[in-house]
Amino acid sequence: MTTIAFIGLGNMGSPMAQRLLAAGHRVRGFDLSEDAKARLTTAGGASFGSPAEAVSGATVVILMLPNSDVVESVITSPEVTAALAVNTLVIDMGSSEPMRSKDLEQRLRTHNIRFVDAPVSGGVIGAENGTLTVMAGGDEQDLAEAGDVLDVFGTVKRAGQVGAGHAAKALNNLMSATHLLVSSEAILAGQSFGVEPELLLQIVNGSSGKSGSTENKWPNFILPRSYNSGFTLRLMLKDMKIAIDLADQVHAASRLSHAAVKLWEEAAEALPESADHTEIARWVAETSQE
Ligand code: NAD
Repeated sequence: MTTIAFIGLGNMGSPMAQRLLAAGHRVRGFDLSEDAKARLTTAGGASFGSPAEAVSGATVVILMLPNSDVVESVITSPEVTAALAVNTLVIDMGSSEPMRSKDLEQRLRTHNIRFVDAPVSGGVIGAENGTLTVMAGGDEQDLAEAGDVLDVFGTVKRAGQVGAGHAAKALNNLMSATHLLVSSEAILAGQSFGVEPELLLQIVNGSSGKSGSTENKWPNFILPRSYNSGFTLRLMLKDMKIAIDLADQVHAASRLSHAAVKLWEEAAEALPESADHTEIARWVAETSQE
């Protein structure tokens, strides 16, 4: 049994913390939201009034926060740094910026705190069922040690040194978002020509155009018009921008990626802040005649 501090108990963090509890670990949680903390307490965890209190006595700290700004503000605050025991393993499981994760690892190392990145793919349903793909970056020994904890969430794949997990995650989401956008345009064109979306999806899913969008997002969230995947459009756009920044930093071609980001930006401006990322399909249809 490991004592784990879990900071960020939102759409993903809440079911992930519950899986740790079900696997027999002790969970000490913190979130800005009282509702989120109450969910953890109901599930058998302990919640605290500050991140510093939550990390006291923990050997592993998991962060499931919106972005690198929030991650850094939480984990490098003087109160938290002082409360972390020497040799604590900090695991950033959110989708953060790879270059900043590398810097953060160095900064924490000066306090004798270890850091690995382990972002995930698979959505809220994957978090609930323990079927996430965990994309890990960091020292091999640290990741082996984190195995007992990370295995609870799904399948762990090591991408390389610190930052490589975050790079893999951003690039995965760039592909996922671009597939979702082009499938939205293609399905709309098919429908206008007279091929029903359900039928086109059936055909594509047995052919070479299939993707996570055609196999999962269209049938589960877009065709039923529920748009409730639990992953917001703004978080997806953040990940796409991380990926194109990375491509620019390493001078890799990214013309299509930049074009896709521009369209997602337009959608983000037009839709409310809470919009689900699958609403991009609705936005494509609604703006197609403009
Ligand atoms: P979310 O907005 O539902 O949850 C984030 C939580 O962090 C919220 O509960 C919020 O109150 C809390 N928070 C924000 N600032 C805080 C602070 N300073 N201290 C403590 N708590 C704070 O987001 P989410 O969908 O759970 O995503 C979390 C991360 O995981 C993001 O990086 C996202 O890109 C990534 N991700 C999300 C999904 C998904 O399907 N939702 C899938 C894979 C990865």
